[in-house]
Amino acid sequence: MQWNRDWEYENQETLKDWYALKVSGKCPDLLVRRIICKGCGRVFYTQVSVKKYCRYDLCGNRGYQKDMKMRRERDRSNMVCKCCGKVFTPKRAGAVYCSNACRQKAYRQRTADRADGPGAEGIK
Ligand SMILES: [Zn+2]
Ligand SMILES: [Zn+2]
Repeated sequence: MQWNRDWEYENQETLKDWYALKVSGKCPDLLVRRIICKGCGRVFYTQVSVKKYCRYDLCGNRGYQKDMKMRRERDRSNMVCKCCGKVFTPKRAGAVYCSNACRQKAYRQRTADRADGPGAEGIK
């Protein structure tokens, strides 16, 4: 329903009128609701029942992305490679080695120590 989202954004005055009709009891069947955008705090009229943001791609997404970005950056900074001890920024969450070379080296060392071969922590 992408068109609907954009349409609502462009036609707030219309929706506001509909909302007025609804609350006045003239058209109680209208689905339009009045919400406060959780992203920018603006009053927004919508017919989408689950809507929380005036525009998800601007307000919803922005808030969410900012949150995720901060979380990711915090998680990724100042990791110390378990193999060579170098401080690095992992390309994915949960990485403990600075590079494939280090990961493989550590993996080989681990498997060499064990008689029963690769354990549960093998290369994915
Ligand atoms: Zn907003
Ligand atoms: Zn390393």
